Amino acid sequence: MKYIGAHVSAAGGVENAPENAMEIGATGFALFTKNQKQWNAKPLTDDNIREFKKRCDEYGFSPNSIIPHDSYLINLGHPEKVKLQKSRDAFLDELRRCEQLGIGLLNFHPGSHLNQISETECLKIIADSINWSLQKTHSVKAVIENTAGQGTNMGYRFEHLAEIIGQVEQIDRVGVCIDTAHTFAAGYDISTEDGFTETFEMFDNIVGFDKLFAMHVNDSKKELGSRVDRHESLGDGFIGWKPFELIMKDVRFDGIPLILETPNPDRWPEEIRKLKNLMKI
Ligand SMILES: [Zn+2]
Ligand SMILES: [Zn+2]
Repeated sequence: MKYIGAHVSAAGGVENAPENAMEIGATGFALFTKNQKQWNAKPLTDDNIREFKKRCDEYGFSPNSIIPHDSYLINLGHPEKVKLQKSRDAFLDELRRCEQLGIGLLNFHPGSHLNQISETECLKIIADSINWSLQKTHSVKAVIENTAGQGTNMGYRFEHLAEIIGQVEQIDRVGVCIDTAHTFAAGYDISTEDGFTETFEMFDNIVGFDKLFAMHVNDSKKELGSRVDRHESLGDGFIGWKPFELIMKDVRFDGIPLILETPNPDRWPEEIRKLKNLMKI
């Protein structure tokens, strides 16, 4: 079983996301549980929560097929104390919102060193941030996304993900989300069958498939190793269809959300249909 979907809109309330996902033929989805460009958000109301759960039930979205993305403002590796705390508080609020909605996963970008500290120091701060927030929550899992390595973003090597995970106390509550566009832009050539096989062998050795909690399935507008994060519709970028064919036929990617973050929502129904068909070949 594969949960295939897209990062859908939650405009007007989180309870609208399940319907938006259902309408494009998705069997899983991602969403923002608050405005991703603002620090503060109104708390979820009992109505929001009840309706969200009811609709997920109605449309058959199980909790492990849903993976919210946190706000882009959060930097859990921030070198400055006050700003780090602001990020940690916001991250904790996001984890709590997931728990209120009965969602088991929260996806986030690890953090950026802003040229003020070393990569190793930054990774330690990120791990400390995860420990701090997991202590204050109960069940939701922290899902670290690999990045393209744009600017001073950490997480562009599988080793970064492993180094963070290695410092997390509640080991069962941390995992990763691999974004295909980020992987490619970071320099892992998944566009060919050999490159794909080699990359995921490396991933398994360094991080481990038992830690793969989600995937973002995106093509890339930018070249291999460009370290630039620009998503493209499936088949239209530098990656092509090959890795998506391979993912859909591979049981190692079963049981987790496979989420499109491609730029044209009008094409999501077609992209989802194509991905589903690849499973059957
Ligand atoms: Zn992301
Ligand atoms: Zn992503």
